[in-house]
Amino acid sequence: MSNENIVQVIEEASDFIRDAIKEDLASGRYKEVHTRFPPEPNGWLHIGHAKALSIDFEIAKEFGGKCNLRFDDTNPEKEDVSYVEAIKRDIRWLGYDWEDREYYASDYYEYLYELAVKLIKKGKAYVDDLSDEEIRVYRGTAVPDKNNITYTPPGKDSPYRNRSVEENLDLFERMRKGEFPDGSKTLRAKIDMAHPNLVMRDPVMYRIRRVPHYRTGNTWCIYPMYDFQHPLSDAKEGITHSLCSLEYEIHRPLYEWFIRECEVFPSRQIEFARLNLSHTELSKRWLLRLVQEGVVAGWDDPRMPTLSGLRRRGYTPEAIRDFLSRIGIAKTNSLVDIQLLEHCLREDLNKKVQRVMAVLKPLKLIIDNWPQGHVEYIDAVNNPEDPGMGTRKIPFTGELYIEQDDFMENPLPKYYRLYPGNQVRLRYGYIVQCVSCEKDSTTGEVVAVHCTYDPATRGGNAPDNSKVKSTIHWVSCAHAVPIEVRLYDHLFESERPRDVPPDVDWISTVNPQSLQVIPNAWAEPLLAESKPEQKYQFERLGYFVCDPDSTQTKKVFNRTITLKDTWAKLEKKLTK
Ligand code: ATP
Ligand code: MG
Repeated sequence: MSNENIVQVIEEASDFIRDAIKEDLASGRYKEVHTRFPPEPNGWLHIGHAKALSIDFEIAKEFGGKCNLRFDDTNPEKEDVSYVEAIKRDIRWLGYDWEDREYYASDYYEYLYELAVKLIKKGKAYVDDLSDEEIRVYRGTAVPDKNNITYTPPGKDSPYRNRSVEENLDLFERMRKGEFPDGSKTLRAKIDMAHPNLVMRDPVMYRIRRVPHYRTGNTWCIYPMYDFQHPLSDAKEGITHSLCSLEYEIHRPLYEWFIRECEVFPSRQIEFARLNLSHTELSKRWLLRLVQEGVVAGWDDPRMPTLSGLRRRGYTPEAIRDFLSRIGIAKTNSLVDIQLLEHCLREDLNKKVQRVMAVLKPLKLIIDNWPQGHVEYIDAVNNPEDPGMGTRKIPFTGELYIEQDDFMENPLPKYYRLYPGNQVRLRYGYIVQCVSCEKDSTTGEVVAVHCTYDPATRGGNAPDNSKVKSTIHWVSCAHAVPIEVRLYDHLFESERPRDVPPDVDWISTVNPQSLQVIPNAWAEPLLAESKPEQKYQFERLGYFVCDPDSTQTKKVFNRTITLKDTWAKLEKKLTK
């Protein structure tokens, strides 16, 4: 689907969340709007989370309400304070502020415990001695019938399902006290083992796990399950609209059941489509594996779809927010073309970013008639989109670096750059004419190009401009600063990395060309002063950002994104 089509489809999707909220306010169901963003601190935020959190914050703002940041941290094995810090930093970077509304589900353990006791007393929860495996088997699974339509035959009651309230209260208290080994007992909601929705077949509410929690340490050895914790945490905070991604839709009846049976504030769950982006994967489990197996350099590797990866790649919060507003809040899951995200980025950077010149694959250009040792400082425009950004002086000399690609000894048809006899404009400088090239005597490789210049063409004006079809970039050899450049491509060549054949491990399909390092490139002197996160357009090469790996003596630049390169396509056709 083309980008225009994607935008179209999404704009046409009804804005069902806003409509539902308007109805709720009109009917008096709620007096205000209060949302929350509930990350689990077990990984760094990716752009899918950015979608969720921008919906939570934007909807609250639109309706004059509030949005809480709540860490859903009730799974001690995988959670860590380092994730909490990373999540908070990335939300702020994206431009959202939860002010003083920072909450932790782990602060609600006592409250949740009391609600569990309440359910036991109402005869709505029981302590079960079945193992996890037995619980799964008793619950049953969906099976195909003779017409190949899946249905779920009724499950089987646990033999412990009818324990008395007194016995359940006693056992649950002793679970908390640590009298039973891990995994030997659970607390389950008593709902319906024949319910067509498997989620409603007596879901587990608590399990015994002697794992220290990053905030509560060893205070608890029983931990609440997500489906029990989440609605009740929402209720505790007075969340009116609990917005979440579509996979929670089948959990909604359970969400409502816990709220109703616990007799707490009636939060309402509404689902929206998950964001899926082409050529990457938005699943914390996948991203964690990429980090743990060293396939990428970390959560903030510029190839990662994490917010910190995108930031290090050179993305701006404005570009990401623009992208999120364009994709809107569709109700059905779809795959969004990563080119749309890239398009939003180009639009934003084009307006803001300083132009400079740098040469990635240097070839020496010698101007034979240039006065020996002469240096001229010529004016270069900082951003043609924004005259307010002014101009700068760059040194021009008789020895320059140009790109290897900008010279061809035997030019292909329609090649308008340097070749013997042809003229090109050196950006902001002079027009030069190629006279010859020098070659390495053993490899035959071109090592230098000789040209002559016409002093009357300073600033790039030719007596007959129409003859000069190309403008190329350059840096002065004597003044250029050495830089390292890292070029990136999509993390996966496949549009849908999930669609690997069953016998293929997806991790083996990571694009081997996704990172290409150019250790020795040259840039104009200005870049010696770059600070991490500073962004530039390298003329003709794309947008680049200074990486934190930079040192005083060598700056490192990540290519954020290329400019649109029509030549490359043409060249491909011609060389086929
Ligand atoms: P996990 O598998 O660990 O639960 P998760 O990606 O769902 O991973 P959470 O921390 O639970 O991580 O997510 C926080 C919020 O972000 C949830 O409300 C979830 O619905 C939402 N979310 C996660 N992934 C996406 C996505 N790709 N698109 C939109 N929303 C998402
Ligand atoms: Mg989740």
